[in-house]
Amino acid sequence: MAIQRTFSIIKPDGTKRNLTGAVNAVIEAAGLRIVAQKRILMTRAQAETFYAVHAARPFFGELCEFMTSGPVVVQVLEAENAIAKYREVMGATNPANAADGTIRKLFALSVGENTVHGSDAPETAAIEIAQFFAGNEIVG
Ligand code: ATP
Ligand code: MG
Repeated sequence: MAIQRTFSIIKPDGTKRNLTGAVNAVIEAAGLRIVAQKRILMTRAQAETFYAVHAARPFFGELCEFMTSGPVVVQVLEAENAIAKYREVMGATNPANAADGTIRKLFALSVGENTVHGSDAPETAAIEIAQFFAGNEIVG
């Protein structure tokens, strides 16, 4: 498996509780390299574009509201098999089902306020990275 990139977000519940460094420590301990990172306030339009795949779901409005409720840290992570590896490090969407040692088990508050996002496939990773980073902002 070649070196791969995935897109990560530390969500508003994480930045609010000052957990950026704690989350990054788990990411780096797992062997994922943070090759791009910036703290932004997502606009409603950015959130709706980012989560367009969930537009028909009942929680879509609440999700976009939450993602724009405070700063987020957007990141590009690099490793062998980075997409699957980061999903393992994040843990299950609902922290009640997340395995011990995962970011969501350690930090998430609920299925909505679940501290991190990670891409689910190479195609979505490429789209998500391009939504937030120019090529010259990613330094591997
Ligand atoms: P993410 O896409 O954020 O990495 P995921 O792939 O584990 O997480 P998805 O099914 O893609 O989960 O859902 C996207 C996000 O929508 C979740 O991370 C969570 O914040 C929110 N979400 C999902 N299900 C619910 C729900 N039942 N109620 C409220 N929010 C939800
Ligand atoms: Mg998802």
